[in-house]
Amino acid sequence: MPLVNSKELFEKAYKEGYAIGAFNCNNMEIVQAITEAAKECNSPVILQVSAGARKYAKPIYLRKMVEAAVEDTGLPIVLHLDHGADFEICKDCIDGGFTSVMIDASSKPFEENIALTRKVVEYAHAHKPYVTVEAELGTLAGIEDDVKVEHGAESYTKPEQVEEFVRRTGVDSLAIAIGTSHGAYKFKPEQCTRDPKTGVLCPPPLRFDILEEVSKRLPGFPIVLHGSSSVNQEYVKIINENGGALVDAVGVPEEQLRKASTMAVCKINIDSDLRLAMTAGIREHMVAHPDHFDPRQYIGDGRKYVKDLVKHKITEVLGSSNKI
Ligand SMILES: [Zn+2]
Repeated sequence: MPLVNSKELFEKAYKEGYAIGAFNCNNMEIVQAITEAAKECNSPVILQVSAGARKYAKPIYLRKMVEAAVEDTGLPIVLHLDHGADFEICKDCIDGGFTSVMIDASSKPFEENIALTRKVVEYAHAHKPYVTVEAELGTLAGIEDDVKVEHGAESYTKPEQVEEFVRRTGVDSLAIAIGTSHGAYKFKPEQCTRDPKTGVLCPPPLRFDILEEVSKRLPGFPIVLHGSSSVNQEYVKIINENGGALVDAVGVPEEQLRKASTMAVCKINIDSDLRLAMTAGIREHMVAHPDHFDPRQYIGDGRKYVKDLVKHKITEVLGSSNKI
C-alpha cells in the first residue's frame, strides 16, 4: 500500500470514536519505533515532519525512511508536514511526495489566515493524488521548533469563527486551541495544583466546552489537537535518576486525551513524549553501561522505549488499535 492522505482515515476515526496518533519523526530509530508499534497494534498512523526535522535530517532522508516503513509494514501511513509556516514549504512538501500538510497561519489575523490557507488548499487539492490540508485557529502556548508562544499570549479558538473559516478555505481538518500546549513544560507551576503526596503538578483541565461547541457547528468535521504529550512521569523519573534535570515538566493527562479521542478529535499530535522516552532509554543505558560505546546499544534502548510508549498511546489513549 502506498502512502495515504488523511481523508478516509479521519472519516472512519470520526464515525468510530477514536483518534489517529500523529508522531513527529526525526531519525530512523524513531520512524521504526512508531511504525513497528503501529504494526503490532494494527493501527493507522501519521508520521509528521516539522521544519526543524527537515533541517536536521534533510527532507529526502525523511521521505525515504517513511517510504521504507510503508514497504516494511504495509500499514496505511500518512506523511504530514507539521506547522508549515508559508506557502512555499507546503508546496515543496506536496511536490516532494507528502500526502498531507499543515499550513499554520494561526498567528496572523483571521482574514490573512483564511487567504493563506485557501491558497495552500487550492494547490494541495489540485495535486494528483489529492493532498489533505490542516489549518489552525487559535494559538497554543509553548515551544515547538521554530514556533514559540509565551505562556499568557495563547488564545483559545473562538467557536463562532470556525464555520466561516472552514467554508471559505475548504480545509480538510482544523487544529483548535483548548488548553493543550507545545513542549514538555506545558503549564507553569502556578497554573497547576500540586499533588501533596507525590509532588507532581496537576494541570488545569482542557476546555471541552469549546470542543463541543466547535463540533456542533462543524458536524462530522475532523478536529486536531496539537501539543498533546502527557509527560509520563515514569520517563521523567528515569531521566532524573540517571543524571537528568527535568523540574516540573507537566503535560496533558491521558484520560482527557482519551475523552477527546471519542469526540470530534481525529488526530492527536505527540512529540515531547517520544523525546522523553528516547532520552530515558539512552540515559538509563549510558549509566548502567559506562563501558559501552556502540551507538546501536544505547540508541537501540531508546528505540525500544519509544516503541513501548507508542503502543501504550495507541491502545490506552487514542483507541486506534485494530482499526485497519
Ligand atoms: Zn503543533
